[in-house]
Amino acid sequence: MSTHAKPVAAFDLVIFGGTGDLAMRKLLPALFRRFADDQIPLQSRILGVARETQSDDDYRERVREALDKAVNDKQTLADKVDAFLDLVSYRPLDATNDEGWDDFAALLNEVDDHVRVFYLSTSPRIFVDICRRLKQHDLNGRGARVVIEKPIGHDYSSATEINDAVGAVFDENQIFRIDHYLGKETVQNLLALRFANVLFEPLWNAAHIDHVQITVAETVGVEQRGPYYDTAGALRDMVQNHLLQLLCMVAMEPPASLDSDAVRDEKLKVLHTLKPINADNAGQATVRGQYRAGAANGGSAPGYLEDLGQSSSDTETFVALKAEVCNWRWAGVPFYLRTGKRMPERVSEIVIQFRDIPYSIFDAGSGSIMANKLVLRLQPDEGVKLWLMAKYPGPGGLRLQAVPLDMSFAEAFGVQQPDAYERLLLDVVRGNLTLFMRRDEVEAAWRWIDPILAAWERSTDSPRPYAAGTWGPSASVALIERDGRTWHDGDGQ
Ligand code: NAP
Repeated sequence: MSTHAKPVAAFDLVIFGGTGDLAMRKLLPALFRRFADDQIPLQSRILGVARETQSDDDYRERVREALDKAVNDKQTLADKVDAFLDLVSYRPLDATNDEGWDDFAALLNEVDDHVRVFYLSTSPRIFVDICRRLKQHDLNGRGARVVIEKPIGHDYSSATEINDAVGAVFDENQIFRIDHYLGKETVQNLLALRFANVLFEPLWNAAHIDHVQITVAETVGVEQRGPYYDTAGALRDMVQNHLLQLLCMVAMEPPASLDSDAVRDEKLKVLHTLKPINADNAGQATVRGQYRAGAANGGSAPGYLEDLGQSSSDTETFVALKAEVCNWRWAGVPFYLRTGKRMPERVSEIVIQFRDIPYSIFDAGSGSIMANKLVLRLQPDEGVKLWLMAKYPGPGGLRLQAVPLDMSFAEAFGVQQPDAYERLLLDVVRGNLTLFMRRDEVEAAWRWIDPILAAWERSTDSPRPYAAGTWGPSASVALIERDGRTWHDGDGQ
């Protein structure tokens, strides 16, 4: 736990979908950790809302069980659980039905000086109903904030509809579109690395960087999310939001400040400079795959169709693509993105591959000289590795070897890395929008994604099969090898 955490002002947080998976597995444990770290004042109120009827005490018991599963250091925190549960209560409420809303509003209005956060942790189908009723009951005033989870639409036009409906109730500066990847320490460290050091920025361009790779790999299959996932696929579920946001953080120009609009303006410019991928070039620039039965997590794993219980599906569980940022800084520097399910390792990382040295003074006996590489790992063990060439120690001639300058954040700072939701939830309370997506960003990302989806739909090809426990179809290797490059493979140079 951090020893530098500043408390926030007392707040009311309503979690619509308070009995759901996200609330129990992520949001409530994140709030608990911040509470245990003395960042959340005792006057705060956390209210779970869902249709199911249950008492406050029943709900608290469910939250207690959820904390028990999610919090590793529960031994040391055990004495804090009861105090945290005192902040928690429950209201049965149907977002699509007027019953109970008057009481709900009265309960919130008992306290009028708290920041009010409405976290929409439900299906996006009912976002509009919830917002409409919040407005009907005058709960959307100043001091109110709304958090919306992905997916924000399944294409540009549906995203616009959601944004219009939420925007009719809340001002843009009250809307927090969450992408939890932006709450990860490494992503914020990318800002620190780029803009708090003089070393990198002069090299951060096409003259010195050969290409960038962004990988978000999961070992799990679709699990219980099959019915949703089959309507989405990896491009919508991962690339439209997480991977494009990471690309923006790498590629953006230095913002004038950390002010939310300054950062988001720069990210938006990157999205606008992405070279379109459409029916003309999708065959060359993208690869989609779908896992078949194979090996995973030390055992055998079924294929996607078996996981889904269907006999056919053209939904991709893997995507690799080559994105190009068309501006002076990045001309000719491809950004290779890949994400997939049932990969051999759970890993999310950004690899900045620098160019080769222009000329070598070393003879062949010294060994080959690898180009420098900066690897920012987002999970599982957040940290940064800078691969440098060094002399192998001892006599026996000058032999060169690539070695990493390795900074694991947990080791360097001696603290356990907070979950991204811990940071982001408190940013909402503070009203800090920097790590949240603005409406125009979400829509610009969809505008780039839609033509890829359209090209795939028109194509007669199905997603290419790959065995569970592998790095996707061989076409993904071909995508990068065609350009004379290879995917970064874990710890190796
Ligand atoms: P979930 O487990 O299906 O939970 C949905 C919640 O919404 C339940 O509490 C449900 O309770 C409540 N609900 C459904 N209809 C309602 C209504 N008419 N009025 C009030 N409450 C209602 O879903 P989830 O996995 O937690 O996901 C929630 C949202 O976060 C989704 O948009 C999802 O795409 C997004 N998300 C989830 C994750 C994750 O890890 N789970 C990650 C990223 C994004 P009742 O049925 O009792 O009403």
